[in-house]
Amino acid sequence: MSITFWAPDAPRTKQQTECPICEGAGVDAYVEGLDCGYCNGRGWLDEEKSSLPEINMSNTNAWDFMARMGVTPDHCGRIPHASLSEIGPKLALIAYGLTSVFLEREPSVVGSITYCGRDHEYVVRRATEMLELVKQAQAGGYDITWG
Ligand SMILES: [Zn+2]
Repeated sequence: MSITFWAPDAPRTKQQTECPICEGAGVDAYVEGLDCGYCNGRGWLDEEKSSLPEINMSNTNAWDFMARMGVTPDHCGRIPHASLSEIGPKLALIAYGLTSVFLEREPSVVGSITYCGRDHEYVVRRATEMLELVKQAQAGGYDITWG
């Protein structure tokens, strides 16, 4: 399970990407004469891409990041544009490594759940990506949604 943060009102563009299943051939790799079922034989897929960054992370990571950003963790939600000015400085402190230690975790196993952990590099990199989304959403006047 994962959570994606994005700005749904930001402009989106359609792109054609090579089908990852048939690698652009459009044919089934195992049954001769059959079209690829994933792309319906086209060899490519239509994808819409936001003009702003989209940040995807595991639920555990997203909930911990939300808590450090001052956002009540939940499976989905919206950060209004007016609140982004409060979140940016908190993310900057993490991205600059000043408060990243609060998000760093050693790998662990709890019951049947394995936590992969988060090292300093991961925390700083993801906070930097999130900060870029916040900055661009602020500049464009957009809310940020997650789910
Ligand atoms: Zn295909």
